Amino acid sequence: MASLVFVTGGVVSSLGKGLSAASLAAILESRGLKVTLVKLDPYLNVDPGTMSPFQHGEVFVTMDGAETDLDLGHYERFVRTRMGQLNNCTTGRIYGNVITKERRGDYLGATVQVIPHVTDEIKDWIRRASEGYDVAMIEIGGTVGDIESLPFLEAIRQLGVEYGRNAMFMHLTLVPFLRAANEIKTKPTQHSVKELRSIGIQPDVLLCRSEIELSESECAKIALFTNVPIKAVISALDARDSIYDIPTMLHAEGLDDIVVERLGLEDKAGPANLDDWLEVVDRTINTRHEVTVAMVGKYVEHNDAYKSLTEAIAHGGLRQRIKVNIRRIESDDLADDDLSQLDGVDAILVPGGFGERGFEGKVNAIRHAREGGIPYLGICYGMQAASVEFARNVCGLEGANTTEIEPDTPHGVIGLITEWQDASGTVEQRDDQSDLGGTMRLGAQDCRLREGSLARKLYGREIISERHRHRYEFNNHYRDIFQKNGMVLSGISMDEMLVEIIEIPDHPWFLACQFHPEFTSSPRDGHPLFTGFIEAALREQQGELPAGVASL
Ligand code: GLN
Repeated sequence: MASLVFVTGGVVSSLGKGLSAASLAAILESRGLKVTLVKLDPYLNVDPGTMSPFQHGEVFVTMDGAETDLDLGHYERFVRTRMGQLNNCTTGRIYGNVITKERRGDYLGATVQVIPHVTDEIKDWIRRASEGYDVAMIEIGGTVGDIESLPFLEAIRQLGVEYGRNAMFMHLTLVPFLRAANEIKTKPTQHSVKELRSIGIQPDVLLCRSEIELSESECAKIALFTNVPIKAVISALDARDSIYDIPTMLHAEGLDDIVVERLGLEDKAGPANLDDWLEVVDRTINTRHEVTVAMVGKYVEHNDAYKSLTEAIAHGGLRQRIKVNIRRIESDDLADDDLSQLDGVDAILVPGGFGERGFEGKVNAIRHAREGGIPYLGICYGMQAASVEFARNVCGLEGANTTEIEPDTPHGVIGLITEWQDASGTVEQRDDQSDLGGTMRLGAQDCRLREGSLARKLYGREIISERHRHRYEFNNHYRDIFQKNGMVLSGISMDEMLVEIIEIPDHPWFLACQFHPEFTSSPRDGHPLFTGFIEAALREQQGELPAGVASL
């Protein structure tokens, strides 16, 4: 049976529950424990796949194709355990399951109620997700006191009783510092713990998010009012230099020892080893170079909309200690020919996206990169836009487009498989692609890299596995003309059916992929495409990228 650590938040949202949970998990993992993390979201959407990035931030895609909350991205960047369908669950999903069972008659005539049926479904989910691990961290989205989170809190209260010594509660709160009074205020924390206790949950640990370190007497005061032992009242200061400093900071506060002791895992857990994290932070702070990358997209102003991407870009600089500045450019603004916003950038990246708005601006930015010999990395929509640009301006296919924008384009170089599938049947439909019109190609799939290509050199192997989230694909009828005009199709799906990576060898560094490499980048390992791209940006800046010579 796994030990469970429940993580709740109080006072305000955005306290960094996900990062704190992930950081604690990282320490526990370094102590030799097998750790997983689960995010329970109290909204009614079945998953965040349908939610606007403006509202909810990025949709993180797992290896097994789940569209999940962006906290799962934090989890995967902090621990080695890979997340999957069971690691994120919403109220919508739980109710969906309960209603399906009710219709099937599984409840044998009972009146179906929030307690026990909904809470049982939640408990069952948590048990399944934590199976096979030493510790499962269960993070409850939202803030204590929200109506929506009540069934989740009731479910974890019950599990707390059932698991006894094998379960504990960690609560994050805000301890504001009032500048005018020059004082720290503990009252909101007292109230939020009171709220938790009123539903029967006594926290074992308090992580007090504050701008300044809590004094001994402030900790004592919080301990007194909340029934939490004083050593478990922990100041969680804002990480100044890097979020990857949080494991080290929490370890210095003794958090992992408290958890290991409380759960009786002393025999299983070794000493913590946070060298990897010290190294990541050292490389983040002590940089030797600085480059600027233009990120040309649609939701660029929204910080969380490209969370994994901005992290992956930063990871790309770590090997060579390069600080990467991201210049966020609204692609709509590049729709006219004024590309002055791209002046002085060392590289250009077009990320994933959907729909018409801003597409032509992306095409313009890509043309600028291709013609100017500026390193270019295109991701998903960024590969599709690069294909459209190449078709129009290099292959001379006038009016080329993706059918997502222009269904009647004379040259649908990008389209749904069902649209460009050969009527004669020579391009057979893949089993897993039977309903591309209404669903997306999701999750990790293998891809073969072409010998001698930039992609192959970067990855250093022939077969890779990367995650997808899209409906449209490169139209195979255009493979020949693209290749004749100098585009190399350097990554192809294992069944040879789908183009996964394109690159232009006659350019210093021009590569675009149909998958999302940002989901598999981590601070400790980086990702070959991002590392290659950022290092190319540095060489561009230093004037070392001769056009016409593809270089790592
Ligand atoms: N809109 C494109 C598609 O559905 C690209 C999606 C993406 O960039 N994630 O194929």
